[in-house]
Amino acid sequence: MRLSQFPITTTKETPADAEIVSHQLMLRAGLIRRLSSGLFSWMPLGLRVLQRVEAIVREEMTRAGAVELLMPSIQPAELWEESGRWTKMGPQMLKMRDRHDRDFCYGPTHEEVICHHVRQDVKSYKQLPVNYFQIQTKFRDEIRPRFGVMRSREFLMKDAYSFHIDAPSLEDTYQAMRAAYTRIFERIGVDFRIVQADSGDIGGSRSEEFHVLAASGEDALAVARDGQFAANVEAAATLPAPGPRPAPSAEMQQVETPHCKTIDQVSSHLDIAPQQCLKTLLVMGCNDKPLALVVRGDHEINDVKAANHPLVRDPFTLVDEAAARACAGAGFGSLGPVGLDMPVIVDHAAAALSDFACGANADGMHLINVNWGRDLPEPQVADLRTIRDGDPSPTGEGPVQIVRGIEVGHIFQLGRKYTESMNVTVLDADGREVHPEMGCYGIGVTRVVAACIEQCADDKGIVWPESIAPFSVVVAPINAKKSERAAQAARELYDALLDQGINAALDDRNLRPGVMFADLELIGIPHRIVVGDRTLDRGALEYKARDADAAIDIPNTLDAVLAA
Ligand code: ATP
Ligand code: MG
Ligand code: MG
Ligand code: MG
Repeated sequence: MRLSQFPITTTKETPADAEIVSHQLMLRAGLIRRLSSGLFSWMPLGLRVLQRVEAIVREEMTRAGAVELLMPSIQPAELWEESGRWTKMGPQMLKMRDRHDRDFCYGPTHEEVICHHVRQDVKSYKQLPVNYFQIQTKFRDEIRPRFGVMRSREFLMKDAYSFHIDAPSLEDTYQAMRAAYTRIFERIGVDFRIVQADSGDIGGSRSEEFHVLAASGEDALAVARDGQFAANVEAAATLPAPGPRPAPSAEMQQVETPHCKTIDQVSSHLDIAPQQCLKTLLVMGCNDKPLALVVRGDHEINDVKAANHPLVRDPFTLVDEAAARACAGAGFGSLGPVGLDMPVIVDHAAAALSDFACGANADGMHLINVNWGRDLPEPQVADLRTIRDGDPSPTGEGPVQIVRGIEVGHIFQLGRKYTESMNVTVLDADGREVHPEMGCYGIGVTRVVAACIEQCADDKGIVWPESIAPFSVVVAPINAKKSERAAQAARELYDALLDQGINAALDDRNLRPGVMFADLELIGIPHRIVVGDRTLDRGALEYKARDADAAIDIPNTLDAVLAA
């Protein structure tokens, strides 16, 4: 690609509304552009990266025996009524009506649709197992879209759905998907963990999440230092605790004291600094009213979901204090009667990681005390309290450490939940009609790009791993306008690289060297070869790896370039 013909629109300034590195850099490097809340266009440079992620995902899915299809993004309401999720999905689901007054939704996921096709096309156990996948746009009307494509409303998901005559066959495919996901994230080159997870809205028995580790991650993960146990804290909290339950600590009881009205009162009441008291704020959606929650503790937790709880229709998300205040400024409701529902939710959020929690409205100024133990069934209180940094893990496997992750993949054994509600049947070997076992497997393809940048960036910009870089190498002539010799040598090298099948770019934009280098570093191309008169005089080229401190001279030959 000649960059003179390729629109690259970079900016030096960090966009004010972008809170995390990946969002900032994706905007600054011109990979994405915001259209509206939670809606982004992938600009040409970003699309190249996205397509490389897609290609890796597609290759590994195919290799693992899944077959690609493509289902519509718009889905008829009847299918969702059959599964019972037309109302259960809540406000996350964007609904619409056509000119004939028929209800549709923009698909947040595709279990219902695939079940519909399978019940029409698959008649016999002989056609099983089968694993369908697609790479398709989803829409979820997230309560707080944020962090760019990390939590957008429209996003690209690779979703796969498998069907089986029995549970062992499901287990086989589940393991094959687990292995394929492992290969996908290893090939992309991100540091990730597989953790036990909650099945959430989707339901089913067994489920694991793939998390890219990053301080900005929304999920708190409990990971045993021996590497044997890892769980999303919401899942960890529901596991049986080993041994007898600990009695509530003195600190827990302290929380039951009378209401405090301000942060200062809470901080003096509990004898801790206001900043510490406000260390973490969560804004959550409860009856459609975002509420803030103050959590004290040495551990910062980000997003903790209580998606299982009937009171919570939407996952709630973390903001810092300033953002919570901004929410209040934007007119979010104050703590009303719905606030009384909070203790149950707070329990999941706070007890896993810290010693007490206080509820607050979004301006962070009106606090109520929350005794998270009061409304929860006994066992959960005890279980939650076992998941703490340095505690034994719930399965008794050594101390756990709390780390943060970005959920990039999620695999489920759904069992017969959907095949029963959607009445999918096949004939088994004895000619009986049975409901097949089902699994589903998702990867947030667009989120992967952002998650990768969270791990692969420095103060100059993005540092793409080779695997998904928009270009592998850029040939950059110096003063090409004045020196036809440098321009010519650069063009020849660029053509030679293309002949070798290398994903090369030629920076023929005629920018000043400083500006050009800053741009190329921001964009994060892994290899840069500078062609200038001075180096050519020495029979050399200047080579710099994006992640190296300094450039080095290499001989001016194609072999030397390829070796670099
Ligand atoms: P989250 O917990 O982040 O809301 P989820 O558990 O609701 O995600 P799944 O239903 O498991 O998501 O969907 C599969 C994958 O789709 C997720 O693992 C994630 O990578 C991606 N994904 C889900 N919601 C979004 C979103 N709003 N923006 C971008 N990617 C998303
Ligand atoms: Mg979600
Ligand atoms: Mg999740
Ligand atoms: Mg999930």
